[in-house]
Amino acid sequence: MSFRDYAPAPESTAILNLRPSYALYIGGEWTDGRGGSMTTISPATEKSIAEISLADASDIDRAVAAARKSYDTVWSRMSGAERGKYLFRIARLIQERAREFAVAETLDNGKPIRETRDIDIPLVAAWFFHYAGWADKLDYAGLGPNPSALGVAGQIIPWNFPLLMLAWKVAPALAAGNTVVLKPAETTPLTALMFADICEQAGLPAGVVNIVPGLGGVAGQALVEHAGVNKIAFTGSTGVGRQIARTLAGSETRVTLELGGKGANIVFDDAAIDEAVEGIITGIFFNQGHVCCAGSRLLVQENIQDEVVEKLTRRLSTLRLGDPLDKNTDIGAVNSKEQLARITAITATGEAEGANRWTLDCELPSKGFWFRPTIFTNVTTSNTVARDEIFGPVLSVLSFRTPDEAIVKANNTPYGLSAGIWTQNASRMLRVADSLRAGVVWANTFNQFDPTSPFGGYKESGYGREGGRHGLAAYLANGGAR
Ligand code: NAP
Ligand code: MG
Repeated sequence: MSFRDYAPAPESTAILNLRPSYALYIGGEWTDGRGGSMTTISPATEKSIAEISLADASDIDRAVAAARKSYDTVWSRMSGAERGKYLFRIARLIQERAREFAVAETLDNGKPIRETRDIDIPLVAAWFFHYAGWADKLDYAGLGPNPSALGVAGQIIPWNFPLLMLAWKVAPALAAGNTVVLKPAETTPLTALMFADICEQAGLPAGVVNIVPGLGGVAGQALVEHAGVNKIAFTGSTGVGRQIARTLAGSETRVTLELGGKGANIVFDDAAIDEAVEGIITGIFFNQGHVCCAGSRLLVQENIQDEVVEKLTRRLSTLRLGDPLDKNTDIGAVNSKEQLARITAITATGEAEGANRWTLDCELPSKGFWFRPTIFTNVTTSNTVARDEIFGPVLSVLSFRTPDEAIVKANNTPYGLSAGIWTQNASRMLRVADSLRAGVVWANTFNQFDPTSPFGGYKESGYGREGGRHGLAAYLANGGAR
């Protein structure tokens, strides 16, 4: 399936109609937060984009009250067909303003425009279209009799796919009949705030969607602890996810957690090598490696290891790093100074622990946060770079001899979000896929997303599924899923 139908043409920042400052969006009104303010910057240039008002606990209280009121008085009384109309309208408005959203996302996040233009924003529209179609069909979804909404959903999202993570959370929540309080990540609030405009344009009743930028430890925590919230949906680090699970243990609040990963991309010697090389690159260098399901560990069969690594470095040398707004750019900026420091620190352990380091030979822009694509070879399973989630453009290469060894090594991680298998042998593909403890296993491809496919983790990668029918169930009282 191609989402290119939704793709806008490339554009410059001239099309953006940004305001110098943004307030919180609560109950259909723009209202200043009491948690101070911060400047959101472009990580590629360190230039400021806009001033963002921040929510404190009292603002979260107001937002939850607004969401509750709209749930009780409007949204829960509406038919599924009516809710669906709003979602269809939102999807179409996203398409209409796709160029603007792509540019804004690239500016705020640092990822290349070709990704926001061809992947992020088209998928956002696809997600809203998909769940719009569910809204009047809940009775047929095989989710039990009279599926009913949970109430108010608190949603906390990360900075790596800002608007797409919003879509993954808001679309199913509204389709199932819930109202929403959403906290975007500190470094990427822009497109979520622009989305508030889309809600207004779509005529969505006030209070159905509330957008509350704020600090994780303040606004995020207040949302998690709020007794008026019926469900918390979180995507982010395993550490914060664990804290949320602890806070909500024994409470009535339902929780879904999408956390970190350390995906294995397994290449057998009968694979189509050139295609596998492209898949390895997509797996770890897409979005600067800021991807929870990234294929950050390459497991390659020993007899083709040298050939694969050679082809990989040769192909990588053709990639362009630089201005994310340039449509020819392949590798953009790292999202924040903090993330750059984290990547640098973990990567430094690679050589110290005996791995060989290859780095893309390229100029780095003088301003902004940049990290050169890096590959470690001669890595062992005990090396930090093979164990810890780096969340950056860093690939660790390990080898194996037999399929059984590949399975053991792939599963040798506390995480379990994604994996990839490259082979022309269908029975081997199925057997290996069956043995991998990962929520998604791609075969002869990597990092493909589709709103009909459930996505989520095993082990420390979290629980619950987003996408498709399972993603809908996560927002229904008798939907079966936790
Ligand atoms: P994070 O702290 O887990 O941030 C995710 C979201 O949770 C943000 O909106 C954040 O707000 C919020 N948050 C932070 N502390 C919170 C708390 N105590 N209660 C409620 N919400 C809270 O992740 P990060 O610091 O941005 O990134 C650190 C690492 O997490 C990365 O290196 C990567 O390994 C992992 N990560 C994973 C994903 C994923 O898709 N699974 C996404 C991002 C990061 P603030 O923005 O204000 O902190
Ligand atoms: Mg920013």
